[in-house]
Amino acid sequence: MNWSERSRQAVWHPCTQMKQHEQLPPRAIVSAEGPWLVDDAGHRILDAVSSWWVNLFGHGFAPIREAITDQLGRVDHIMLAGLTHPPVVELSERLGQLTGLGHAFYASDGASATEISLKMSAHSWRNRGQAGKHRFIGLEGGYHGETAGALSVTDIPLFREAYAPLLRLSATLPSPDPRRAAPGVSAEQHLQHCIDALAAHLAEHAQEIAAIILEPLVQGAAGMAMHDPAYLVAVRRLCDQHQVHWIADEIAVGFGRTGTLFAHQQAIGPDGVAVKPDFICLSKGLTGGVMPLSAVLTTDAVYQAFWDDRTVHGFLHSHSYTGNPLACRAALAVLDTFAARDAQGRDVLARNREAAAHFHALTEPLRRHPRVKAHRHIGMVWAWDIDTTEPTFAQRYHRAALDAGLLLRPIGHTLYVMPPYVLSPDDQRFLADGLLSVLDAVLAEVDALPAHTAASGAIAATAPMA
Ligand SMILES: *Cc1c(COP(=O)(O)O)cnc(C)c1O
Repeated sequence: MNWSERSRQAVWHPCTQMKQHEQLPPRAIVSAEGPWLVDDAGHRILDAVSSWWVNLFGHGFAPIREAITDQLGRVDHIMLAGLTHPPVVELSERLGQLTGLGHAFYASDGASATEISLKMSAHSWRNRGQAGKHRFIGLEGGYHGETAGALSVTDIPLFREAYAPLLRLSATLPSPDPRRAAPGVSAEQHLQHCIDALAAHLAEHAQEIAAIILEPLVQGAAGMAMHDPAYLVAVRRLCDQHQVHWIADEIAVGFGRTGTLFAHQQAIGPDGVAVKPDFICLSKGLTGGVMPLSAVLTTDAVYQAFWDDRTVHGFLHSHSYTGNPLACRAALAVLDTFAARDAQGRDVLARNREAAAHFHALTEPLRRHPRVKAHRHIGMVWAWDIDTTEPTFAQRYHRAALDAGLLLRPIGHTLYVMPPYVLSPDDQRFLADGLLSVLDAVLAEVDALPAHTAASGAIAATAPMA
């Protein structure tokens, strides 16, 4: 048996109906360098989704590798209750300087960061004598992870439905994604409608609401839905007005993905200064996609709500691998990389702006494609909505892209690219050409299908391939 077959016997793969692996077995990747993966048959595959949105600087990035190796010779892992270590201290100080929020609390994955922020918010209100404030608001299409608490504020029916009885009810308010505007309603009107809906909900329910959680600027799992930063300015104002916390889930959009180090920094308040959330959740790019690590940052006010002689007023949450030193060193190498400038005086964000302009020009034929209904772009994220009703589009595209040497996983009918920040001009050209030729090939394939046979066909119909 090869690696792929052995994997199907032994490994239960995430976000996967395992039966579908009969048609489309998992690819076994045996090496990776920069944005390129190499499978066990020697095929090279360009990783155009940053290995599920985590990888920033390509695979095998030397500064991260060296940092981890160095740390391995010092301290591999120690518990963080009652002990501390230099990497976690330094990382916390630097995240605090970069965000203006401190008191970094660590876990190992994004969903756990969501859980921590929800628990911390509700518990802080309780400690302040407002135990009734324990409900949460999420947005339509919002995604915050798949543990039970995180799913409670997630609005992706496919991920939620089977677990609905396990979940706590949260309010789901309209998303400022302009594509959700009612017919005849402009983007500006839709934005105002969403702000009004939040204002009305808070006016009625603020006394029972701990926090609103949202993904600033890009709702990733909803299909790279993008919105105006003005919405975030309104969220900040309304949360202040009604004494509700704002949790910014920057797990996917943090670390330069939208063009600024953190996405919420693009929302400039009336005082001319970027708005600040009460909590920021970070993961994914935090370690450049090399080590599992997440962090929740919060305000002095929240921290002070736990500062007490009574143990039960403390935040007693914990994970065994909290603040893992190797992961913290990887994150410090990422922060060093963002802080550095090249010989031309450009930092990562400046180089990304140039690379994005170049790639944007290369994708012009895709934007003009007759079957592309809507396209959007911010920073290092591109998305195109494809005009097809074929439910197997995403899986067919994924398979055809792999055969063309590209790792791409459309979400429903949305084709998107979230590349690592290290594509060469040749890589960009290869990706842009492949996006288009695979699209034409897959559309020809699905257009030739007899209507509605696919749902009962070999590939099950529903999975959106998030
Ligand atoms: C990926 C993601 C999560 C969950 O992170 P995991 O590490 O997969 O648990 C939460 N929120 C957003 C916005 C994400 O993209």
